[in-house]
Amino acid sequence: MKNVRSLAVIVVGLFYVQCLFAQKNPVTDKVNHLTYSKNELLGRIVPSPPLFSEIPMSCSSRSGMMLRVEVLNAFKELHQAAEEEDVRLTVMSGTRTFSHQKSIWERKWVRPKYMGWSDIEKARDILSYSSMPGSSRHHWGTDVDLNSLENEYFESGEGLKVYDFLERCASDFGFYQVYTEKNRDSNANTRSGYEEEKWHWSYLPIANEMLKQYNSTISNQDIDGFKGAVSADSLKIIVNYVNGIF
Ligand SMILES: [Zn+2]
Repeated sequence: MKNVRSLAVIVVGLFYVQCLFAQKNPVTDKVNHLTYSKNELLGRIVPSPPLFSEIPMSCSSRSGMMLRVEVLNAFKELHQAAEEEDVRLTVMSGTRTFSHQKSIWERKWVRPKYMGWSDIEKARDILSYSSMPGSSRHHWGTDVDLNSLENEYFESGEGLKVYDFLERCASDFGFYQVYTEKNRDSNANTRSGYEEEKWHWSYLPIANEMLKQYNSTISNQDIDGFKGAVSADSLKIIVNYVNGIF
């Protein structure tokens, strides 16, 4: 009898531990409820299969660019829908690693025009259109730059046709312009951070979850390891830039 009772206690105990483990293990089979590591959120990764896949040359400006598989599948559908309207979408930039972003940032950091500028002034100027390494949505494999890196391109002719299509249809496939026109409403300061980017489109079914986890996992101190990183804190990079969307 005593053995039976002990066995029952063990079985109940094991069941309890299993439940506890299930609750504490947040990885589920749903795409947008995966748990992303700090390194993934900061771009300290090598984007490769099976999570990432190469964007085919039929949709991109050069070979070797990667996106998360789910993002690429959605983008291919968007690309197809565009072709049906005689609109051509070309990815200029997809996933960027921390070291790639660092090379972009540090190339700008040493521009001759910044002679005599303070670190904060330099950082603020570069941040008009470029992210500090560790704080770019391109690290996540969810965001693409399309067709041109100039807003002007999207304001007339072929570019305007592309932009009209994206505004009308991209959200049907999960893609949204996140760096929208600032101060759209009469209400000033509707959005902080980067200037408008008509070329930058984000796959929100995954990116929204990654932003949520970024906000709960990463602090300004984690944005480090490049020239001028010391200004990340005073510029409130996470509040003003990573969250400066819509
Ligand atoms: Zn971009």
